[in-house]
Amino acid sequence: MHCPFCPAQDTKVIDSRLVTGGDQIRRRRECAECGERFTTFESAELVMPRIIKADGSRQPFDEEKLRMGIMRAIEKRPVSIEKVEEALNGIKSSLRATGEREVESTLLGEWVMKELRKLDKVAYVRFASVYRDFKDVEAFRKEIDALEQSE
Ligand SMILES: [Zn+2]
Repeated sequence: MHCPFCPAQDTKVIDSRLVTGGDQIRRRRECAECGERFTTFESAELVMPRIIKADGSRQPFDEEKLRMGIMRAIEKRPVSIEKVEEALNGIKSSLRATGEREVESTLLGEWVMKELRKLDKVAYVRFASVYRDFKDVEAFRKEIDALEQSE
């Protein structure tokens, strides 16, 4: 976002918080050129960062795709839809709170795994096995061991 006090084209987000039930984000920004600070209110939908894929391409955040991925991971597991929505909201809040215009897909993946780990261990391992593309049984076993040790 450009600075209202000087011609600088880029300003740094120094604080982000959700307001009015999560529909808006209040941001404190600082200009690196002139040092002025100002506040913006941005629509939460508009500030969802784009996702940087492994091949370097950028894509809009796809909530539906993420929901499908989570649903696949929890198939036949005792996890309610409410819990899935909670997890999705947690992930979206984390995304918005970065204040970045673009976020690496790997970071998004880590957040998804963190949420799944809280929801259901089996779902977590299922998702992780696809996401991390476990090359062999050994990698899979390491993940299970790490899970058991964290209990
Ligand atoms: Zn400025």
